[in-house]
Amino acid sequence: NTPLHELDPDVAAAVDAELHRQQSTLEMIASENFAPVAVMEAQGSVLTNKYAEGYPGRRYYGGCEHVDVVEQIAIDRVKGLFGAEHANVQPHSGAQANAAAMFALLKPGDTIMGLNLAHGGHLTHGMKINFSGKLYNVVAYHVDDATGQVDMAEVEKLAKEHKPKLIVAGWSAYPRQLDFAAFRRVADEVGAYLMVDMAHFAGLVAAGLHPNPVPHAHVVTTTTHKTLGGPRGGVILSTAELAKKINSAVFPGQQGGPLEHVIAAKAVAFKVAASEDFKERQQRTLDGARILAERLVQPDVTEHGVSVLTGGTDVHLVLVDLRNSELDGQQAEDRLHEVGITVNRNAIPNDPRPPMVTSGLRIGTPALATRGFQNEDFTEVADIIAETLKPSYDADALKARVSALAAKHPLYPGL
Ligand code: PLP
Repeated sequence: NTPLHELDPDVAAAVDAELHRQQSTLEMIASENFAPVAVMEAQGSVLTNKYAEGYPGRRYYGGCEHVDVVEQIAIDRVKGLFGAEHANVQPHSGAQANAAAMFALLKPGDTIMGLNLAHGGHLTHGMKINFSGKLYNVVAYHVDDATGQVDMAEVEKLAKEHKPKLIVAGWSAYPRQLDFAAFRRVADEVGAYLMVDMAHFAGLVAAGLHPNPVPHAHVVTTTTHKTLGGPRGGVILSTAELAKKINSAVFPGQQGGPLEHVIAAKAVAFKVAASEDFKERQQRTLDGARILAERLVQPDVTEHGVSVLTGGTDVHLVLVDLRNSELDGQQAEDRLHEVGITVNRNAIPNDPRPPMVTSGLRIGTPALATRGFQNEDFTEVADIIAETLKPSYDADALKARVSALAAKHPLYPGL
């Protein structure tokens, strides 16, 4: 029972340093969040020791009576949260959820359609060197040049031309809502499955603040660690009709033993996500992103070539467009890091700069909302970001303002 700091001081020191980094800076990576202590407790529990290949009640190992309870709770809760007929809570990650869903519905060589990576899609939606791009024939759709929004006319045209077996609707970097009913209409017209990857916006859906894709899609995949605020992991939701195919694609198709400690943590996160507090937090997440977008389209910012893709946001993130700025994505990310704000640079549609540099930033509000940020705090963050992106900025003064906000909303007190 030797504690970590005694058994392995090197690893313990790095963990402590990471805790300090999370506490003392402002985390605005759109795909990140802070899991509740109870979620981390479940994830750090003795369930990590248990092999449980199979599903509740049908395992290939003995001694599964307690992990069966945990996994069934997770399944029931996530089905209830999103109104799904079937749930598989075993995927180790979002990428593995997508891989299993595709294995369930497709054969190698089938055609899939997904949003182009540079236009906001995810690697698993058909990127060339990802499994999805290697196994399947990929036809990418795009956002419209003028509006920055997904071009449904192009989706329909490409679908009719290429007759995909699967259409993926979902994104990693897109500030608007998708029209799931329109995607389903197109899928039905060409006899394709519709898979929605709601990894980014699942928390908003759970709170009732974003349209729910479940009634429209054959399959919905998600991660549990982004807006949903749980442990790192994945989930697949589907119709009852596809349940068997999905389950056998996850195990034994894709994975061996499920991570029951993570599944326990997912169950806790689903309980939290059904609460009124969670709904209020997701509302602050949306309000914060809107406040940020509004601030970054003010003339004192746009005069320096900074603007916001699509002119605003309906979700938890803002995509900053630096195509007309002297600052590139890398420099902007570095500057914000210097003042204590963590974001990631992001290629934007038709980006003139190389992928390692980019002309965009993706800035999200879920983690700060979890920390308790209110509208006035998000206004202050937005002002700090606006000042930092101007040609001349006072790093020390801005750093002090960041520290004041971090101190106002302590993270994991007592840890
Ligand atoms: N799907 C989408 C839309 C994502 O944005 C991500 C992660 O960024 C994933 C899937 C993959 O999730 P993971 O990193 O857990 O594999």
